[in-house]
Amino acid sequence: MSHIHDLGVIGGGVHGATVALFAARGGMDVALFERGPLCREASGVNAGTLTMQMTRVALIPYALEAHAMWASAGDWLGHDVGVVVCDGLSLAFTPAEAELLTFRAGKRREAGAPIEIVSGARAKEIEPGLSGQALIAGHCKVDGFANAYLTGLAFRAALIEAGVSLHENCPVAGVEREDGAFAIRTSQGVKRVRRIVLAGGVWIEPMLAWLGISLPIKTLINQLSVSERIAPVMRTVVGIANGLLSLKQYPHGTVVIGGGWQAVGDRERGGVELLPERLIGNMRLACHAIPALRQARMARAWAGLEAETRDALPAVGPLPGIADAYVCGSVHSGYTSGPYIARLLAEHILDREPAMPLFPIDRLLAPEGAGTTA
Ligand SMILES: Cc1cc2nc3c(=O)[nH]c(=O)nc-3n(C[C@H](O)[C@H](O)[C@H](O)COP(=O)(O)OP(=O)(O)OC[C@H]3O[C@@H](n4cnc5c(N)ncnc54)[C@H](O)[C@@H]3O)c2cc1C
Repeated sequence: MSHIHDLGVIGGGVHGATVALFAARGGMDVALFERGPLCREASGVNAGTLTMQMTRVALIPYALEAHAMWASAGDWLGHDVGVVVCDGLSLAFTPAEAELLTFRAGKRREAGAPIEIVSGARAKEIEPGLSGQALIAGHCKVDGFANAYLTGLAFRAALIEAGVSLHENCPVAGVEREDGAFAIRTSQGVKRVRRIVLAGGVWIEPMLAWLGISLPIKTLINQLSVSERIAPVMRTVVGIANGLLSLKQYPHGTVVIGGGWQAVGDRERGGVELLPERLIGNMRLACHAIPALRQARMARAWAGLEAETRDALPAVGPLPGIADAYVCGSVHSGYTSGPYIARLLAEHILDREPAMPLFPIDRLLAPEGAGTTA
């Protein structure tokens, strides 16, 4: 009989990598299987924003903990992901946007996010790069960003140091129950594990189907663009259109414009198509907020796939009816909150009481309308 690991994690994005890391540090013998290099899907191509102003209200307490984790990444991850902690401003340019912003900021504040509404003039004091056309802004001191493309490098080193058996470029084709364990069919042969975590981002839907669970996962296709390196034009994270679009300038001078109008694509075939007219729309909005950006040339644009459940809340917890099997993903603004929420799942798997509740998928398997929508 081949070696049996305590835990097998399938999918090496920020969720899978974090569960694997903390489970290994908790004493488990962990194997992680990633079809490509670590964190090269959503977790490596995202906009890197670490914000409360785009986070769903129910996730604010988690996001605050996660923000603190990112801010101290050197301590627990041990490797640099270029985290910058700075102020965040969410702008409203019209009375309708101002009303919605005020309502949402109020809800997030009730949930613990330190967001205050400030006048357009005050927003311009906080961010001198603004055009001055904003009526009001949501101002949050707990904001910032990371260099998402460094995520895989950082986790790779940390996982190896923690003793995780790391299988990159190792697609998994299926999972079967076998003698009280799980047999994982990989491109490197069959691997056996006692417990399993499915952490496949937008691909948790086909992964769950391996175990007979049908959970529809919507795929969002977010477009990003990055400017050439320019002189400093902004010093905060700026959100527009009630958080749908965000922009920030990295210390080396590039400005990343993320979100906004979506691209098109296909999860199964993996192909995405950027839509130039929508990218231009995003850039126009960005220039409306930060006029100095009009002088910048855009260097590159790309897109990535983000998962969403029916109620837009995470799928994180045990799989109903299947002992020792778990799912971890579909966290909205999952780069911000992922490390904390995935660490909670690792605590659960280690038989410790997580500090906050998980998000079991039982609610999503009930007929439409019967589940909770908190
Ligand atoms: C363009 C974009 C911008 C975003 N911007 C932000 C932002 O600014 N701030 C924020 O908080 N969030 C942001 N997000 C959301 C955030 O990136 C995601 O919520 C988070 O990274 C998801 O992590 P994950 O581990 O669940 O999924 P992923 O990172 O997608 O990881 C899943 C992994 O599973 C692997 N996999 C799939 N099938 C198999 C298989 N059969 N065998 C082995 N491995 C498999 C994939 O290769 C992939 O690496 C953005 C998302 C996108 C796409």
